[in-house]
Amino acid sequence: MHHPAEASPVRTEVDLWAQGKQAGALRVPFSRDDSGWGTIAVPIVVIANGEGPTLMLTAGNHGDEYEGQVALLRLAQTLEPAALAGRVIILPAMHFPAAVAGTRKSPLDGRDFNRCFPGNPRGSFAEVLAHYIDTHLLPLCDAQMDLHSGGTGMDILPSTCGHILDDQGYMERSLAMADAFGAPITLLLAEVNAGPTLLAAAERRGVLALSSELGGAGRLSPHGLAVTERGVRNLLRHFGMIDGAPESEGSRKMTVPDLDHYVFAPHYGIWEAADPLGATVAKGGRAGLLHRIEAPLSPATALTYAASGMLWCTRGPGRCRAGDPVAVVARDL
Ligand SMILES: [Zn+2]
Repeated sequence: MHHPAEASPVRTEVDLWAQGKQAGALRVPFSRDDSGWGTIAVPIVVIANGEGPTLMLTAGNHGDEYEGQVALLRLAQTLEPAALAGRVIILPAMHFPAAVAGTRKSPLDGRDFNRCFPGNPRGSFAEVLAHYIDTHLLPLCDAQMDLHSGGTGMDILPSTCGHILDDQGYMERSLAMADAFGAPITLLLAEVNAGPTLLAAAERRGVLALSSELGGAGRLSPHGLAVTERGVRNLLRHFGMIDGAPESEGSRKMTVPDLDHYVFAPHYGIWEAADPLGATVAKGGRAGLLHRIEAPLSPATALTYAASGMLWCTRGPGRCRAGDPVAVVARDL
């Protein structure tokens, strides 16, 4: 049995070492004015059978990203222990208060959960939950995938995302995992994020880890959902946890190397994109027009791309504020 050094106030209402399929909760304290001993139950499903690796799949890190949440509900409902070798830990709505609200950040403490790792057992709700996941769940894992999409703000081509890492062997195993998942694009970030994301927390613990962007704009994309459902099954095949080989044609390796690959809105306005997602775009080409309803007779502001490549991400809502990215261009690695 694993005994982490730092105590967590989170109670685990499943047996992480039992065989079979269990659905339960991580019970996280949340003191309110009308309930000092109040708690919030974060859903967890554990499916285990015999010997094999442990894979943790998480969604709802940001509450307004839906492809992962639905793909993991379906996996939890359909994966039978008898077909499995190893253990799958599923958190389909990890940052539960945000997932219930359908918001990126938590309505409880205003925190972005993916900026809370490694967390704090005496911190806010999000920090307590992040600390539990870092100290109690990640140490059990051989591999972990955190399923994100573009949320309300962005619409993104279905992609797995990882970091370019110094450790070559670890890097190669991460790329093999991304190839097996089989999203059309694998986006690698040149910078090692030593920061507060779940992906970085998993890397710090030596757990093979990927993130993803599987749609966005506040919708559930049927295409993104299909990529995600196939992808999580492919990971189980890749790690030898269910029968069969991954159904994947590999994945195009791309990167967003610097901020020149972003187009930022210089002022408030309504964004009219010039290109659809996936378009090939050229440096100096028109990215779109920013319309100002405050000045009816002023011409719209034309924005241009500062780099060539593929339009990988666009703004979701029409309205944007000064400083918002309205386009992100990826290039082949
Ligand atoms: Zn996200």
